[in-house]
Amino acid sequence: MSDMRVKTIAIIGGGTAGWLAANHLAVELRSEPDISITVIESPEIGIIGVGEGTVPHIKQSLMKFGIAEADLLASCDATFKMGIKFQDWMQTSHPASDNFYYHPFASPYPGGLDVNSLYLQRADSMRFSEVCETPFLAEAMKSPKHAASQEYQGAVNYAYHFNAVKFGQLLAKNARERFGVQHVKTTLRAAVLGNDGAVSHLIAEDGQTLQFDFYVDCTGFHSLIFGKTLNVPFIDKSKQILSDSALAVQIPYETSQEKLAPYTLAKAHSAGWLWDIPLTQRRGVGFVYSSAHMNETQALDGLSSYLKVDASRYAPRKIPMRIGYREQFWVKNAVSLGLAQGFVEPLEATSIFVTDFAAELFARNFSVHKDGMAVAAGYCNKVLAYTWERVMDFVQLHYCISDRRDTAFWRDNTEGATLSDVLSERLAIWRHHAPKKSDFFSRFDLFDVDNFLFVLYGMNYPTMKKNISDYERRCFENEIAAIDQRKHALSTQLLDHRDWLHQFNLAYQGKM
Ligand SMILES: Cc1cc2nc3c(=O)[nH]c(=O)nc-3n(C[C@H](O)[C@H](O)[C@H](O)COP(=O)(O)OP(=O)(O)OC[C@H]3O[C@@H](n4cnc5c(N)ncnc54)[C@H](O)[C@@H]3O)c2cc1C
Repeated sequence: MSDMRVKTIAIIGGGTAGWLAANHLAVELRSEPDISITVIESPEIGIIGVGEGTVPHIKQSLMKFGIAEADLLASCDATFKMGIKFQDWMQTSHPASDNFYYHPFASPYPGGLDVNSLYLQRADSMRFSEVCETPFLAEAMKSPKHAASQEYQGAVNYAYHFNAVKFGQLLAKNARERFGVQHVKTTLRAAVLGNDGAVSHLIAEDGQTLQFDFYVDCTGFHSLIFGKTLNVPFIDKSKQILSDSALAVQIPYETSQEKLAPYTLAKAHSAGWLWDIPLTQRRGVGFVYSSAHMNETQALDGLSSYLKVDASRYAPRKIPMRIGYREQFWVKNAVSLGLAQGFVEPLEATSIFVTDFAAELFARNFSVHKDGMAVAAGYCNKVLAYTWERVMDFVQLHYCISDRRDTAFWRDNTEGATLSDVLSERLAIWRHHAPKKSDFFSRFDLFDVDNFLFVLYGMNYPTMKKNISDYERRCFENEIAAIDQRKHALSTQLLDHRDWLHQFNLAYQGKM
């Protein structure tokens, strides 16, 4: 009976995915002291090293792992992210003078009120994101936290920007020191299947054989087990999401006084968009583009034009992106996570979110008895296929409802777009009715009505207006007036984002 129990787990890959998996599995298996977890990481291959924007879900995982927010902020050059500011995603903008909208990490239901129909009546004179305080505070470059806010709590909701390499190191330290996860540095040549089609063992470059009961493939785009060994088919989504390349650079600050935006800037261009992410020690900027619509020289010119200097001086790293996911996520005694599982271009920071979600899903459904694997695999495969499809829809939404037609890229993303049946149906319904919570009937819609509303109405989606009563109008006006008051009050109470982080870092180092 004892060989029916899982005793050893190998996580292959020491990137964000590998160490998130290690922490999630260690937490869930705390009551199984005879199970050991080992992370195997290639010292030669290294990690992808991008992935600096997150969504608020990460806070729950960090709390669960026992990581103090102060340690994250101090050791990962972290800054706060209140949401994303989308610039130039529309041809004709509203108001016409400034072409941007916010997707804040906030509820679009002020005072619990469903204000969509009411907003549509006022759409000519206000932005949808004014239904919460966050964009005003973000524009004012405020910190989301008071000086004395509890850890992981703020005056408004937030996530982080961080240095991806340092974040991996923080997760690794926690997994090793708090949970006793083993760490082996070796490059694997192959994974070998047994007669039953399950992974039997791994072979290292030096010929050594490593055998475990369960394997977690976190080898990034290399996809050692799910791609190279199990040959799980890749569901290609490049017809839905056209951006397939990125040029990434790290930009030092010119002075230590430069303002730190508490948001990710996502600025659209003729064949894609670029991200600008502020960390405490530098910025991370990435030019995302469709190689079918723009070549690398043009992309470099676009990046230089944004940076107002020749971008080649920052040695841009070209990163090809394969958009899609593998048909199965759990096969017999192996699961895949992170880039080995799938990827959609980095708009909306979906990747760490899906990885974190999937790692927790696997850990919670993990069966210590080998005969419980098949049923867990079936369930997780169903959940994750749904999750991936809806994440693709959410990213595509940003393109397909734009009124930009100025280049072939935008025409292909709008008039020529291929949408999933679910997204097509939802968009058709939302022409007649504003999105409702009940339109999202699965909790595996990781991006739900809150997120969709900010994007749809940030981009002036044309839902038919409904009649509203005077009573509803008064309630709406009262809520908007209350938000107005709160945002001005908060803006005087909250510190400047850079100042908050500076004071925090001094206090952390014991200098205050
Ligand atoms: C351009 C770009 C921008 C992105 N921006 C964001 C963002 O803002 N927000 C976000 O959420 N996500 C973002 N992502 C995704 C994010 O980078 C990943 O989710 C995250 O880094 C996790 O990567 P990973 O751990 O799966 O892979 P990696 O970091 O590539 O790690 C793979 C690991 O596997 C190991 N390995 C590989 N092969 C072998 C082998 N044969 N033997 C032993 N070890 C091996 C490597 O050494 C490494 O340790 C972005 C991705 C790209 C491409």
